[in-house]
Formats: sequence, C-alpha cells, structure tokens
Amino acid sequence: MKSLEAYLRDAEQAHGHLCAGQVLGVRLAMLGLQKLGIDDPQGKDRKRLVTFVEIDRCATDAVAVVTGCRLGKRALKFRDWGKVAATFVDVSTGKAIRIAAKESSKALARQMHPEIQDKNPQQMLAYREISDDNLFAMQWVRVDLPPEEFPGYKGERVTCEACAEGINFRREVRSDGKLLCRACAGERYYEPLE
Ligand SMILES: [Zn+2]
Ligand SMILES: [Zn+2]
Repeated sequence: MKSLEAYLRDAEQAHGHLCAGQVLGVRLAMLGLQKLGIDDPQGKDRKRLVTFVEIDRCATDAVAVVTGCRLGKRALKFRDWGKVAATFVDVSTGKAIRIAAKESSKALARQMHPEIQDKNPQQMLAYREISDDNLFAMQWVRVDLPPEEFPGYKGERVTCEACAEGINFRREVRSDGKLLCRACAGERYYEPLE
C-alpha cells in the first residue's frame, strides 16, 4: 500500500481538489484494506476486492482511488444511503468489514483546531491526525454476493419483451409471465417526453 500522502495526491488528481472528504475517504479505505490484509489493491490483489459505498460525495472518489474498485469493473457498488461509510469484501475469503465515519469527528476537529475558522482546512488537518478509533466505527459483516455481483461474471443477455432493449447480469424482472427490464417493470427513474 502507498502512504497516506501518496494516496492523497492521487485522490486530489482524480477528484479535482483536495478536501476533507478526500482525507476521510483515503483513510477509511486504507483502514479497510489493512483489516482485510490486502496490501496491493492495484496489483496482485486487484481481483480480491468488491467495495460498497454508501454516499455519492467526495469521500467515495477517494475510496475508489485507494481500492482501485470502479463502477465499470463491477467492483464498486453504490447504495444511496447518504452515509460516509463503505464495506470492503474480500471475495477470496468471504471476509468483509464495514467502516463508517463517526459523526463526532466534526466536533473533534473543532476542538483540536479552534485556531482554524474555515471548516474544510480545519477538518482536512484534523482528519490526518485523529486516531482510527476516534475517526471510524468498524464492524465485521457478512455480505451475500450472488455470482452475478462478481466483477468477472458473464451471463446470458436477455431482451425486454416491452422495449426490446438488451439486459445483462440478471437484472431482468419476471412479471405476469413477461420478461421485462426494470424500467418497464415500473422502476423507471425518468418519464419519456414523447
Ligand atoms: Zn471534494
Ligand atoms: Zn423494457
């Protein structure tokens, strides 16, 4: 694994700026990998890890940088829960750990650096200094990953009987004897305008 500073440089580049969320995300991911004993996530261990992230904010970009898990590799899973938390799954052993940033870390940052008025620089500095135990809550968990959730899964491709679009990875829905995509089955997040 690289050092915190080295990952922060990578994260700054990937994310576009350095912020408190990057420091938090890098440390959260480094801790997760360390607990799982994964020390070369971009190299020899690159197929061992699946990561669930629970927020679409700064920290998530940093988690992706450290773990190498990407949405396009099916190794990064998003659960829109609005929490600065991630679960790291070692698919070679089945071990998994969920790590969440403690809500108290913001108040702790204020206590540690009252001389810095601005929140972002205050937290950026404090989040480097606060111990893992004060910054994060950790829990060993079990994650059931069906075969189609694994990065390398290759399954048959089916066609939606309503819109004729192709569907991969068993995301089809069977409803009233029909094989439908999730949009046609009623989970549409958009309204067609014409
Ligand atoms: Zn940011
Ligand atoms: Zn459809």
